[in-house]
Amino acid sequence: MKLLEGKNAIITGASRGIGTGIARVFAENGANVAFTYSSSEGPALELEKELSGLGVKVKAYKSNAASFEAAEQLVASVLEDFGGIDILINNAGITKDNLLMRMSEADFDSVIEINLKSVFNMTKAVQRTMLKQRKGSIVNMSSVVGVKGNAGQANYAASKAGMIGFTKSVALELGSRNIRCNAIAPGFIETEMTAKLDEKVVQGWREGIPLKRGGSPEDIANACLFFASDLSAYVTGQVLNVDGGMLT
Ligand code: NAP
Repeated sequence: MKLLEGKNAIITGASRGIGTGIARVFAENGANVAFTYSSSEGPALELEKELSGLGVKVKAYKSNAASFEAAEQLVASVLEDFGGIDILINNAGITKDNLLMRMSEADFDSVIEINLKSVFNMTKAVQRTMLKQRKGSIVNMSSVVGVKGNAGQANYAASKAGMIGFTKSVALELGSRNIRCNAIAPGFIETEMTAKLDEKVVQGWREGIPLKRGGSPEDIANACLFFASDLSAYVTGQVLNVDGGMLT
């Protein structure tokens, strides 16, 4: 039996990068996958088609993670289309990097809204369903930057550190109802988000990583699979660094 056989999962921001990796690994492991995107309709529909070929139900939804109303509508649509929600992966995220001196209020606010408020929006929207089922697993995609901080990323680091506090609080609140909430802190993962960085800087990072390479979306997806499945049935409120040893 596959690890996620028959489970329904919502993954935010799966039209590319880490989210696509998670959707693929989940579908390969038997999960039905509802996933969101913001603007990449072409890749989202391609992924929907590809993963539907694995014999599970897969559907892409255009939904802005930063909007409270959109999260409620999304969850209502997913419940209608899939009949239940067992797993929520809060993965959608952006960067708008700058030194504090040059960081605009708009760039601070949009990073907090898309990365952090989205987690509140989605978790609140699935809560009732998971409470009724007395079962659920929520995984929040934080970052090593939320644990350690990073010059030029005060907005991003604040959003990712906020996700860790949110994760631990929700784990404490919902544990008695068998709803688990954990976070993953990826290190340097090779996606479009990191492709915009200077190659020399990136090379310096790779050399500083004990495993001497950047991570892949699959590396993160496998950690998500652990948290989403019953393999981690007794694990909640944790932050797992998946970073090649970067923070060691
Ligand atoms: P990515 O390649 O830039 O992909 C971001 C995904 O989020 C896309 O599917 C995008 O949809 C979606 N998205 C962006 N804004 C959205 C919004 N307002 N509403 C809904 N979806 C939205 O990023 P990634 O590297 O895969 O990162 C995924 C997550 O991991 C993020 O939370 C990121 O902070 C975190 N992370 C990444 C790294 C890394 O090294 N890559 C390290 C640590 C943590 P569209 O395609 O439609 O824009």
